[in-house]
Amino acid sequence: MRLLVHDSVSPVFAPALLVDYLTSEGVDATTDCHPTDADGVVAFAHDDALLDAPWVHAITAGYDDYPVEEYHEAGLTFTNSTGIHGTSVGESVVGHCLTFARRLHRYRDRQHDRQWEHEPYEAAFTLSGERACVVGLGTLGQGVAVRLDALGMDVVGVRRTPALVPGVSEVVTPDDLHDAVSDARFVVLTVPLTDETTGLVDAGVFATMREDAYLVNVARGEVVDQDALVTALESGAIAGAALDALDPEPLPAESPLWGFEEVLITPHCAALTNDYHEAVGDLVVTNARRIGRGADPVNRVV
Ligand code: NAD
Repeated sequence: MRLLVHDSVSPVFAPALLVDYLTSEGVDATTDCHPTDADGVVAFAHDDALLDAPWVHAITAGYDDYPVEEYHEAGLTFTNSTGIHGTSVGESVVGHCLTFARRLHRYRDRQHDRQWEHEPYEAAFTLSGERACVVGLGTLGQGVAVRLDALGMDVVGVRRTPALVPGVSEVVTPDDLHDAVSDARFVVLTVPLTDETTGLVDAGVFATMREDAYLVNVARGEVVDQDALVTALESGAIAGAALDALDPEPLPAESPLWGFEEVLITPHCAALTNDYHEAVGDLVVTNARRIGRGADPVNRVV
């Protein structure tokens, strides 16, 4: 089995890092062949040449940018990297929540002006005792929930099957989204982008959220109606937002979202961490071995 590490992974890690890791695990890998000549391609983005490969592995959990139907019709195997981002994204979300509660973003802003000044007394709060609503309780959602629970927060979740998961005190179905967000200080989005979740967080959701609530989006930009978010921020319907996923990406310089004091924008990096290539590599090795012996791969999309 010979694998191509596609150049598209470059924005996440150097392709050679994954080649070296796969090689150290006994899997033949290269950055330098055509997809037709490989038994599988590890990629961060689709290009049409991938349709010539028998197996494509996405280094991301989300696969909304890949032409899944075309892959299906081409008869290729397509796998993704769900399951590996619970810790990195979980910690990123803890960072977002702590930043707002402890006002770190405002102190960092003032540091640029060498300004020694407290926030207003009523602005700082502790996460302990506050409620978070996590929408989507897969790998990301569970990684977020256990960490916010460990900080003493009351975590409720929105899930299609209303069964409890660790860290969550109550689960409701998407039909009860409005109820679930209505008394949360933080609403954290961890759902995939699907027809059902496109525009899920709209003006109606913002109207239901508390005025002192924060939205944290580590899912996909399109899950949020971004115009409605801007309106909600301008009108004070919500307190702020941490946005790791935006629509479009990169967020254009003229977007009003850049200008809010209570908005944290990060360039879709919540999952990035210095051993990302190893976590992806472990999945790829597992699947190379499974496919090699004719077994079904893990994380199969088609
Ligand atoms: P996952 O498949 O483990 O979990 C997704 C969960 O969402 C599943 O439990 C699924 O049942 C649930 N879900 C689907 N539709 C729903 C709905 N309408 N309402 C409630 N729950 C619903 O995937 P994951 O690894 O947790 O990743 C989730 C998404 O987060 C990805 O698809 C991707 O878009 C995004 N993501 C972003 C980053 C980042 O860097 N910001 C990193 C990884 C993943």
